Amino acid sequence: MFSESLDQAEAMTELIRVLQDSENIVVLTGAGMSTESGIPDFRSDSGLWQDDELMQAMSVNYLRYFPERFWPKFKHVFLRPEYLQAQPNAGHLALGLLEGMGKRIQIFTQNVDGLHGVAGNTQVFELHGNFGLARCPICHTPYALNHILSEEVPHCVWENQKGVVCGHVLDPDTVLFGQDVRHYGRAQLAIANADVMLVLGTSLTVDPVAELPHFAIEQCHTRLIIVNMESTYCDKWAHLVIRGKVGEVLSQAVARVSSARDFPQRYRA
Ligand code: NAD
Repeated sequence: MFSESLDQAEAMTELIRVLQDSENIVVLTGAGMSTESGIPDFRSDSGLWQDDELMQAMSVNYLRYFPERFWPKFKHVFLRPEYLQAQPNAGHLALGLLEGMGKRIQIFTQNVDGLHGVAGNTQVFELHGNFGLARCPICHTPYALNHILSEEVPHCVWENQKGVVCGHVLDPDTVLFGQDVRHYGRAQLAIANADVMLVLGTSLTVDPVAELPHFAIEQCHTRLIIVNMESTYCDKWAHLVIRGKVGEVLSQAVARVSSARDFPQRYRA
């Protein structure tokens, strides 16, 4: 790892240099990206995934067998009022700013909170879906958050021309245990062509997404930069590892990239 020899200030300087030099950036984010917005990660000591029963209930089998019991538990995990009110933090906004500078930023997120889109990024691929959407598994009618919240167990209200209501319990858009992640092939293609891959706020413990940084190094020779509070299995292969809060690290770095770009123009004026 190149960064082993660097102190924190030198690591930040290197992060800024790489961001300045890179035009095609792939980003992989996890729950740690949104903790600074007030949404906790699930694997910390007090996290919701410490409750085995709750974790097992977030599976497609549980939804199929016990739909009436599934939805209150799903809402307890994902649709708490404080999560629904969460706003993008400095890290989300920094990624939006990078895209605003004309760089190609493709974000592959394990998060289901939709905050990257709110922050202004246009190339966001939600590998595990979005907690604010649902769909009928029978007639495929899509539903938004207001309908999901309108009853404890949301049902399909689509009505055919004979006035028969579908009435089936909805599926959340969120990918449940036992379901496939989305956009995986697209992520591999993006990683193969990227100048650098930023891995932000993820423990890299949920497969197959956790394999993507290894794929970047092994198959594509794409440099990795990891920003996380704790170590990950990929640290040893990364070009740079910064141990810190994503929002703080990224906003400082992107502000420096932005001011360096503005400087020649201001200087000429
Ligand atoms: P995780 O909980 O396994 O790991 C989060 C990592 O982020 C940890 O290593 C933690 O140390 C680190 N972290 C926490 N706050 C940080 C910060 N401010 N800066 C830097 N690092 C920080 O999360 P995961 O790997 O993303 O997997 C969790 C799964 O649960 C995902 O698949 C996701 O679908 C779901 N989830 C989503 C949300 C959300 O949408 N916001 C929140 C929790 C869980």
